[in-house]
Amino acid sequence: MAEVWDAVVVGAGIEGSATAFHLAKNGCRTLLIEQFPLPHSRGSSHGASRIIRKAYVQQHYAQMMNEAYPIWEQVEQETGTQLYIKTGGMLVGPGSSEQLAQTEQSLAGAGSEFERLSSDDLKLRFPNLSFPADYRAVLDPEAGVLKADKALRCLQDLFVKYGGRIHDEEKVMRIDPGDVVTIHTSKSTYKTRKLLLLPGPWAGKLLGPLGLQPPLKPVRISVLYWREKGPGTYSIKKGFPVFMDAAHLYALPSLEYPGIFKLCYHSGPAIDPDDRDGFAGSRGNQEIVRMMCDYVRKHFPGLESVPAIQESCIYTNTPDEDFILDCHPQYRNIIIGAGFSGHGFKLAPVVGKLLCELAMDKQPSYDMTPFSLSRFHNTATPQAKL
Ligand SMILES: Cc1cc2nc3c(=O)[nH]c(=O)nc-3n(C[C@H](O)[C@H](O)[C@H](O)COP(=O)(O)OP(=O)(O)OC[C@H]3O[C@@H](n4cnc5c(N)ncnc54)[C@H](O)[C@@H]3O)c2cc1C
Repeated sequence: MAEVWDAVVVGAGIEGSATAFHLAKNGCRTLLIEQFPLPHSRGSSHGASRIIRKAYVQQHYAQMMNEAYPIWEQVEQETGTQLYIKTGGMLVGPGSSEQLAQTEQSLAGAGSEFERLSSDDLKLRFPNLSFPADYRAVLDPEAGVLKADKALRCLQDLFVKYGGRIHDEEKVMRIDPGDVVTIHTSKSTYKTRKLLLLPGPWAGKLLGPLGLQPPLKPVRISVLYWREKGPGTYSIKKGFPVFMDAAHLYALPSLEYPGIFKLCYHSGPAIDPDDRDGFAGSRGNQEIVRMMCDYVRKHFPGLESVPAIQESCIYTNTPDEDFILDCHPQYRNIIIGAGFSGHGFKLAPVVGKLLCELAMDKQPSYDMTPFSLSRFHNTATPQAKL
Protein backbone atom coordinates (compact mmCIF):
# COMPACT_ATOMS: atom_id res chain seq x y z
CA MET A 1 0.00 0.00 0.00
CA ALA A 2 1.36 3.44 -0.96
CA GLU A 3 2.14 5.75 1.96
CA VAL A 4 -0.50 8.46 2.45
CA TRP A 5 1.01 11.85 3.38
CA ASP A 6 -0.86 14.26 5.67
CA ALA A 7 0.05 17.03 3.22
CA VAL A 8 1.89 17.49 -0.06
CA VAL A 9 2.97 21.02 -1.03
CA VAL A 10 3.76 21.73 -4.69
CA GLY A 11 6.30 24.52 -5.28
CA ALA A 12 9.34 25.34 -3.15
CA GLY A 13 9.31 29.10 -3.70
CA ILE A 14 8.96 31.31 -0.64
CA GLU A 15 5.19 30.72 -0.31
CA GLY A 16 5.36 26.92 -0.64
CA SER A 17 8.39 26.73 1.67
CA ALA A 18 6.70 28.90 4.33
CA THR A 19 3.53 26.78 4.09
CA ALA A 20 5.49 23.53 4.35
CA PHE A 21 7.36 24.96 7.37
CA HIS A 22 4.09 25.71 9.24
CA LEU A 23 2.61 22.30 8.36
CA ALA A 24 5.66 20.38 9.59
CA LYS A 25 5.91 22.54 12.72
CA ASN A 26 2.28 21.66 13.45
CA GLY A 27 3.01 17.94 13.26
CA CYS A 28 1.77 17.18 9.71
CA ARG A 29 3.83 14.62 7.76
CA THR A 30 4.56 16.80 4.76
CA LEU A 31 6.28 16.37 1.38
CA LEU A 32 7.43 19.45 -0.58
CA ILE A 33 7.82 18.87 -4.34
CA GLU A 34 9.78 21.24 -6.62
CA GLN A 35 10.23 20.87 -10.37
CA PHE A 36 13.73 22.45 -10.55
CA PRO A 37 16.96 21.60 -8.69
CA LEU A 38 17.13 23.82 -5.59
CA PRO A 39 18.08 26.62 -5.39
CA HIS A 40 16.96 27.97 -8.78
CA SER A 41 16.32 31.32 -10.43
CA ARG A 42 13.43 30.52 -12.78
CA GLY A 43 10.45 31.64 -10.65
CA SER A 44 9.71 34.55 -8.31
CA SER A 45 11.67 33.96 -5.10
CA HIS A 46 15.35 34.10 -6.14
CA GLY A 47 17.83 36.93 -5.57
CA ALA A 48 19.47 38.39 -2.48
CA SER A 49 16.95 41.03 -1.42
CA ARG A 50 13.29 41.99 -1.03
CA ILE A 51 11.59 44.97 0.62
CA ILE A 52 9.84 44.39 3.91
CA ARG A 53 7.50 47.15 5.08
CA LYS A 54 4.35 47.89 7.00
CA ALA A 55 3.38 50.73 4.66
CA TYR A 56 0.47 49.31 2.68
CA VAL A 57 -2.55 51.01 1.17
CA GLN A 58 -4.73 47.98 2.04
CA GLN A 59 -5.23 47.68 5.76
CA HIS A 60 -5.49 43.86 5.72
CA TYR A 61 -1.84 43.64 4.61
CA ALA A 62 -0.74 46.29 7.13
CA GLN A 63 -2.38 44.12 9.85
CA MET A 64 -0.78 40.90 8.54
CA MET A 65 2.65 42.57 8.54
CA ASN A 66 2.32 43.07 12.30
CA GLU A 67 2.46 39.27 12.53
CA ALA A 68 4.96 38.66 9.70
CA TYR A 69 7.77 40.58 11.45
CA PRO A 70 7.78 38.43 14.62
CA ILE A 71 7.63 35.20 12.58
CA TRP A 72 10.65 36.31 10.51
CA GLU A 73 12.40 37.10 13.81
CA GLN A 74 11.57 33.63 15.11
CA VAL A 75 13.06 32.09 11.93
CA GLU A 76 16.19 34.23 12.44
CA GLN A 77 16.51 32.99 16.03
CA GLU A 78 15.87 29.33 15.20
CA THR A 79 18.45 29.31 12.40
CA GLY A 80 20.94 31.82 13.84
CA THR A 81 20.78 33.79 10.56
CA GLN A 82 20.17 37.52 10.11
CA LEU A 83 17.39 37.96 7.55
CA TYR A 84 16.08 41.49 8.21
CA ILE A 85 18.12 44.68 7.93
CA LYS A 86 16.21 47.68 9.26
CA THR A 87 16.75 50.66 6.96
CA GLY A 88 13.42 52.48 7.12
CA GLY A 89 11.37 52.94 3.98
CA MET A 90 10.24 55.93 1.99
CA LEU A 91 7.21 56.30 -0.29
CA VAL A 92 7.44 59.42 -2.47
CA GLY A 93 4.83 60.99 -4.71
CA PRO A 94 3.02 64.21 -5.54
CA GLY A 95 1.47 65.91 -2.49
CA SER A 96 -1.97 65.16 -3.95
CA SER A 97 -1.27 61.39 -4.31
CA GLU A 98 -4.09 59.24 -2.93
CA GLN A 99 -1.63 56.39 -2.43
CA LEU A 100 0.38 58.45 0.07
CA ALA A 101 -2.74 59.54 1.98
CA GLN A 102 -4.17 55.99 2.05
CA THR A 103 -0.84 54.52 3.16
CA GLU A 104 -0.74 56.95 6.10
CA GLN A 105 -4.33 56.05 7.01
CA SER A 106 -3.60 52.35 6.80
CA LEU A 107 -0.43 52.61 8.93
CA ALA A 108 -2.34 54.62 11.53
CA GLY A 109 -5.21 52.07 11.43
CA ALA A 110 -2.76 49.19 12.05
CA GLY A 111 -1.23 51.10 15.00
CA SER A 112 2.12 51.51 13.19
CA GLU A 113 4.38 54.53 13.39
CA PHE A 114 5.17 56.72 10.39
CA GLU A 115 6.66 60.09 9.59
CA ARG A 116 5.47 62.65 7.04
CA LEU A 117 8.19 64.50 5.07
CA SER A 118 7.38 67.75 3.30
CA SER A 119 9.10 68.66 0.06
CA ASP A 120 11.68 70.70 2.02
CA ASP A 121 12.28 67.84 4.50
CA LEU A 122 12.79 65.48 1.56
CA LYS A 123 15.49 67.73 0.04
CA LEU A 124 17.21 68.21 3.38
CA ARG A 125 17.23 64.55 4.45
CA PHE A 126 17.97 63.06 1.01
CA PRO A 127 20.12 65.54 -0.96
CA ASN A 128 21.00 62.81 -3.49
CA LEU A 129 17.40 62.67 -4.70
CA SER A 130 15.81 65.22 -6.99
CA PHE A 131 12.01 65.50 -7.07
CA PRO A 132 9.65 68.31 -8.11
CA ALA A 133 8.70 70.92 -5.50
CA ASP A 134 5.20 69.46 -5.02
CA TYR A 135 6.53 66.01 -4.01
CA ARG A 136 6.44 64.74 -0.42
CA ALA A 137 7.14 61.41 1.31
CA VAL A 138 5.90 59.02 4.01
CA LEU A 139 8.58 57.26 6.09
CA ASP A 140 7.91 53.80 7.54
CA PRO A 141 10.61 53.33 10.22
CA GLU A 142 10.18 49.52 10.40
CA ALA A 143 10.79 48.95 6.67
CA GLY A 144 13.99 47.36 5.49
CA VAL A 145 15.62 44.66 3.44
CA LEU A 146 14.93 40.93 3.74
CA LYS A 147 17.82 38.71 2.69
CA ALA A 148 15.63 36.76 0.28
CA ASP A 149 17.74 33.77 -0.76
CA LYS A 150 18.82 33.21 2.85
CA ALA A 151 15.17 33.46 4.03
CA LEU A 152 14.12 30.81 1.51
CA ARG A 153 16.94 28.50 2.59
CA CYS A 154 16.16 29.00 6.31
CA LEU A 155 12.47 28.07 5.86
CA GLN A 156 13.42 24.93 3.91
CA ASP A 157 16.03 23.99 6.55
CA LEU A 158 13.50 24.42 9.37
CA PHE A 159 10.93 22.40 7.42
CA VAL A 160 13.39 19.51 7.20
CA LYS A 161 14.34 19.98 10.88
CA TYR A 162 10.66 19.54 11.81
CA GLY A 163 10.51 16.26 9.89
CA GLY A 164 9.46 17.44 6.40
CA ARG A 165 10.87 15.93 3.22
CA ILE A 166 11.87 17.83 0.05
CA HIS A 167 11.90 16.25 -3.41
CA ASP A 168 13.39 18.63 -5.96
CA GLU A 169 13.97 18.03 -9.70
CA GLU A 170 10.53 16.44 -9.77
CA LYS A 171 7.67 17.99 -11.73
CA VAL A 172 4.01 17.43 -10.89
CA MET A 173 2.39 16.28 -14.13
CA ARG A 174 -1.14 15.25 -13.13
CA ILE A 175 -3.43 15.45 -10.11
CA ASP A 176 -6.32 13.05 -9.49
CA PRO A 177 -8.68 14.61 -6.90
CA GLY A 178 -10.48 12.49 -4.29
CA ASP A 179 -10.74 12.00 -0.53
CA VAL A 180 -7.14 10.94 -0.93
CA VAL A 181 -5.49 12.95 -3.74
CA THR A 182 -3.13 11.14 -6.12
CA ILE A 183 -0.22 13.14 -7.54
CA HIS A 184 1.70 11.92 -10.56
CA THR A 185 5.17 13.44 -10.98
CA SER A 186 7.97 13.01 -13.49
CA LYS A 187 9.49 10.41 -11.10
CA SER A 188 6.78 8.84 -8.96
CA THR A 189 3.20 8.79 -7.67
CA TYR A 190 2.12 10.04 -4.21
CA LYS A 191 -1.05 9.97 -2.16
CA THR A 192 -2.06 12.68 0.29
CA ARG A 193 -5.02 13.78 2.40
CA LYS A 194 -4.34 17.47 1.70
CA LEU A 195 -2.73 18.96 -1.38
CA LEU A 196 -1.43 22.54 -1.26
CA LEU A 197 -0.67 24.13 -4.63
CA LEU A 198 1.83 27.03 -4.56
CA PRO A 199 3.23 26.88 -8.11
CA GLY A 200 3.92 30.63 -8.56
CA PRO A 201 3.86 31.63 -12.25
CA TRP A 202 2.94 28.06 -13.25
CA ALA A 203 -0.35 28.15 -11.30
CA GLY A 204 -2.49 28.42 -14.44
CA LYS A 205 -0.91 25.25 -15.83
CA LEU A 206 -1.81 23.18 -12.74
CA LEU A 207 -5.22 24.76 -12.04
CA GLY A 208 -6.62 24.48 -15.59
CA PRO A 209 -6.87 20.67 -15.54
CA LEU A 210 -8.55 20.97 -12.10
CA GLY A 211 -11.34 23.00 -13.69
CA LEU A 212 -10.17 26.44 -12.50
CA GLN A 213 -9.13 29.41 -14.56
CA PRO A 214 -8.60 32.38 -12.22
CA PRO A 215 -7.31 35.51 -13.98
CA LEU A 216 -3.61 35.07 -13.22
CA LYS A 217 -1.09 36.92 -15.38
CA PRO A 218 2.63 36.04 -15.19
CA VAL A 219 4.71 39.10 -16.14
CA ARG A 220 8.45 39.41 -16.68
CA ILE A 221 10.18 41.93 -14.43
CA SER A 222 13.50 43.44 -15.46
CA VAL A 223 15.59 43.59 -12.33
CA LEU A 224 17.83 46.57 -13.02
CA TYR A 225 20.98 47.54 -11.12
CA TRP A 226 22.66 50.96 -11.47
CA ARG A 227 26.25 51.87 -10.67
CA GLU A 228 26.73 54.66 -8.12
CA LYS A 229 28.93 57.52 -9.38
CA GLY A 230 30.39 57.74 -5.87
CA PRO A 231 30.31 54.24 -4.32
CA GLY A 232 28.11 54.15 -1.22
CA THR A 233 25.93 57.18 -2.09
CA TYR A 234 22.70 55.18 -1.74
CA SER A 235 23.96 52.57 0.72
CA ILE A 236 22.59 51.24 3.99
CA LYS A 237 25.76 52.57 5.71
CA LYS A 238 24.91 56.11 4.60
CA GLY A 239 21.35 55.63 5.92
CA PHE A 240 19.58 55.32 2.58
CA PRO A 241 16.21 53.58 3.07
CA VAL A 242 14.25 51.22 0.85
CA PHE A 243 12.42 53.40 -1.62
CA MET A 244 9.07 53.40 -3.41
CA ASP A 245 7.66 55.91 -5.85
CA ALA A 246 3.88 56.11 -6.19
CA ALA A 247 4.52 55.85 -9.95
CA HIS A 248 5.16 52.08 -9.55
CA LEU A 249 8.91 52.04 -8.99
CA TYR A 250 10.93 50.69 -6.12
CA ALA A 251 14.56 50.52 -5.03
CA LEU A 252 16.76 48.89 -2.43
CA PRO A 253 20.07 50.22 -1.12
CA SER A 254 23.08 48.41 -2.54
CA LEU A 255 23.46 44.92 -1.07
CA GLU A 256 24.03 42.16 -3.62
CA TYR A 257 26.65 44.02 -5.69
CA PRO A 258 28.90 46.56 -3.89
CA GLY A 259 28.42 50.10 -5.24
CA ILE A 260 25.45 49.04 -7.35
CA PHE A 261 21.88 50.06 -6.56
CA LYS A 262 18.73 48.06 -7.42
CA LEU A 263 15.92 50.16 -8.94
CA CYS A 264 13.08 48.51 -10.85
CA TYR A 265 9.73 49.15 -12.49
CA HIS A 266 6.85 47.31 -10.82
CA SER A 267 5.41 45.90 -14.06
CA GLY A 268 6.39 44.18 -17.29
CA PRO A 269 5.19 42.29 -20.36
CA ALA A 270 2.91 39.25 -19.98
CA ILE A 271 4.82 36.00 -20.57
CA ASP A 272 4.71 32.24 -20.52
CA PRO A 273 6.89 31.27 -17.51
CA ASP A 274 8.49 28.47 -19.54
CA ASP A 275 9.76 31.08 -22.02
CA ARG A 276 10.73 33.93 -19.66
CA ASP A 277 13.98 34.80 -21.45
CA GLY A 278 12.35 34.77 -24.87
CA PHE A 279 10.83 38.11 -23.77
CA ALA A 280 14.07 39.81 -22.62
CA GLY A 281 14.58 41.58 -25.96
CA SER A 282 10.87 42.33 -26.50
CA ARG A 283 9.71 45.87 -27.32
CA GLY A 284 7.76 46.00 -24.05
CA ASN A 285 10.92 45.26 -22.10
CA GLN A 286 13.09 47.71 -24.05
CA GLU A 287 10.56 50.49 -23.45
CA ILE A 288 10.66 49.85 -19.71
CA VAL A 289 14.47 50.01 -19.65
CA ARG A 290 14.38 53.29 -21.64
CA MET A 291 11.79 54.76 -19.26
CA MET A 292 13.90 53.72 -16.25
CA CYS A 293 17.02 55.38 -17.74
CA ASP A 294 15.03 58.65 -17.99
CA TYR A 295 13.80 58.25 -14.42
CA VAL A 296 17.33 57.72 -13.06
CA ARG A 297 18.63 60.75 -14.98
CA LYS A 298 15.89 62.96 -13.49
CA HIS A 299 15.65 61.75 -9.90
CA PHE A 300 18.84 59.88 -8.92
CA PRO A 301 21.70 62.21 -9.94
CA GLY A 302 24.22 60.03 -8.06
CA LEU A 303 23.68 57.03 -10.39
CA GLU A 304 24.97 56.34 -13.88
CA SER A 305 21.90 56.42 -16.10
CA VAL A 306 22.45 53.14 -17.97
CA PRO A 307 21.85 49.87 -16.09
CA ALA A 308 25.04 48.05 -15.07
CA ILE A 309 23.33 44.65 -14.60
CA GLN A 310 20.00 43.25 -15.82
CA GLU A 311 18.37 40.15 -14.35
CA SER A 312 14.88 38.63 -14.63
CA CYS A 313 12.14 37.61 -12.26
CA ILE A 314 8.41 36.89 -12.64
CA TYR A 315 5.35 38.35 -10.92
CA THR A 316 2.02 36.51 -11.06
CA ASN A 317 -0.62 39.23 -10.98
CA THR A 318 -4.31 39.13 -10.14
CA PRO A 319 -6.48 42.00 -11.44
CA ASP A 320 -6.87 43.49 -7.91
CA GLU A 321 -3.33 42.55 -6.78
CA ASP A 322 -4.77 40.63 -3.83
CA PHE A 323 -3.54 37.07 -3.35
CA ILE A 324 -5.59 33.90 -3.88
CA LEU A 325 -5.66 31.85 -0.65
CA ASP A 326 -8.57 29.45 -0.79
CA CYS A 327 -9.79 25.86 -1.06
CA HIS A 328 -10.78 24.46 -4.44
CA PRO A 329 -14.57 25.06 -4.63
CA GLN A 330 -15.25 21.42 -5.51
CA TYR A 331 -12.33 19.57 -3.87
CA ARG A 332 -11.98 21.12 -0.43
CA ASN A 333 -8.82 19.14 0.34
CA ILE A 334 -6.98 20.94 -2.48
CA ILE A 335 -5.78 24.32 -1.21
CA ILE A 336 -4.48 27.05 -3.47
CA GLY A 337 -2.03 29.91 -2.87
CA ALA A 338 -1.38 31.99 -5.98
CA GLY A 339 -1.29 35.48 -7.51
CA PHE A 340 1.20 37.08 -5.13
CA SER A 341 1.31 40.07 -7.49
CA GLY A 342 4.86 41.25 -6.83
CA HIS A 343 4.45 41.84 -3.10
CA GLY A 344 4.18 38.40 -1.49
CA PHE A 345 7.68 37.75 -0.14
CA LYS A 346 7.49 39.73 3.10
CA LEU A 347 4.06 38.21 3.87
CA ALA A 348 5.06 34.57 3.26
CA PRO A 349 5.17 33.62 6.99
CA VAL A 350 1.53 34.70 7.40
CA VAL A 351 0.45 33.23 4.04
CA GLY A 352 1.97 29.91 5.14
CA LYS A 353 0.21 30.09 8.48
CA LEU A 354 -3.18 30.76 6.84
CA LEU A 355 -2.83 27.95 4.30
CA CYS A 356 -1.74 25.59 7.07
CA GLU A 357 -4.88 26.58 9.02
CA LEU A 358 -7.04 25.80 5.95
CA ALA A 359 -5.29 22.43 5.51
CA MET A 360 -5.78 21.55 9.18
CA ASP A 361 -9.49 22.56 9.07
CA LYS A 362 -8.86 25.35 11.60
CA GLN A 363 -10.56 28.74 11.65
CA PRO A 364 -8.23 31.09 9.66
CA SER A 365 -6.67 33.86 11.76
CA TYR A 366 -7.74 36.59 9.28
CA ASP A 367 -10.79 37.48 7.24
CA MET A 368 -10.25 35.50 4.02
CA THR A 369 -12.74 37.50 1.91
CA PRO A 370 -10.06 39.52 0.03
CA PHE A 371 -8.33 36.27 -0.96
CA SER A 372 -11.29 34.22 -2.14
CA LEU A 373 -11.39 32.54 -5.54
CA SER A 374 -15.07 33.42 -5.88
CA ARG A 375 -14.31 37.16 -6.18
CA PHE A 376 -13.50 36.46 -9.81
CA HIS A 377 -16.24 35.64 -12.28
CA ASN A 378 -15.75 32.71 -14.61
CA THR A 379 -13.15 31.08 -12.37
CA ALA A 380 -14.34 27.60 -13.31
CA THR A 381 -13.74 26.19 -16.78
CA PRO A 382 -16.98 24.43 -17.73
CA GLN A 383 -15.28 22.28 -20.36
CA ALA A 384 -12.51 21.08 -18.06
CA LYS A 385 -12.01 17.34 -17.80
CA LEU A 386 -11.95 16.65 -14.08
C1 LIG B 1 11.86 41.33 -9.20
C2 LIG B 1 10.95 41.02 -8.06
C3 LIG B 1 10.98 41.86 -6.96
C4 LIG B 1 10.12 41.63 -5.89
N1 LIG B 1 10.18 42.44 -4.80
C5 LIG B 1 9.45 42.16 -3.72
C6 LIG B 1 9.62 42.92 -2.53
O1 LIG B 1 10.45 43.83 -2.49
N2 LIG B 1 8.88 42.57 -1.45
C7 LIG B 1 7.97 41.55 -1.47
O2 LIG B 1 7.33 41.30 -0.45
N3 LIG B 1 7.79 40.82 -2.60
C8 LIG B 1 8.51 41.09 -3.70
N4 LIG B 1 8.37 40.35 -4.84
C9 LIG B 1 7.33 39.31 -4.89
C10 LIG B 1 7.74 38.01 -4.27
O3 LIG B 1 9.08 37.73 -4.54
C11 LIG B 1 6.78 36.94 -4.81
O4 LIG B 1 5.45 37.32 -4.47
C12 LIG B 1 7.07 35.58 -4.23
O5 LIG B 1 8.43 35.25 -4.43
C13 LIG B 1 6.16 34.54 -4.89
O6 LIG B 1 6.59 33.27 -4.48
P1 LIG B 1 5.92 31.93 -4.97
O7 LIG B 1 6.38 30.89 -4.01
O8 LIG B 1 4.46 32.13 -5.17
O9 LIG B 1 6.49 31.67 -6.44
P2 LIG B 1 7.88 30.96 -6.93
O10 LIG B 1 9.02 31.48 -6.17
O11 LIG B 1 7.90 31.08 -8.39
O12 LIG B 1 7.65 29.47 -6.48
C14 LIG B 1 6.81 28.58 -7.16
C15 LIG B 1 7.55 27.27 -7.30
O13 LIG B 1 6.68 26.26 -7.79
C16 LIG B 1 7.43 25.41 -8.64
N5 LIG B 1 6.52 24.68 -9.52
C17 LIG B 1 5.63 25.20 -10.40
N6 LIG B 1 4.97 24.23 -11.05
C18 LIG B 1 5.43 23.06 -10.56
C19 LIG B 1 5.15 21.70 -10.86
N7 LIG B 1 4.26 21.35 -11.82
N8 LIG B 1 5.80 20.73 -10.18
C20 LIG B 1 6.72 21.06 -9.22
N9 LIG B 1 7.05 22.34 -8.92
C21 LIG B 1 6.40 23.33 -9.58
C22 LIG B 1 8.31 26.41 -9.40
O14 LIG B 1 9.41 25.80 -10.01
C23 LIG B 1 8.69 27.39 -8.31
O15 LIG B 1 9.91 27.03 -7.67
C24 LIG B 1 9.21 40.55 -5.93
C25 LIG B 1 9.18 39.71 -7.04
C26 LIG B 1 10.05 39.93 -8.09
C27 LIG B 1 9.99 39.03 -9.28
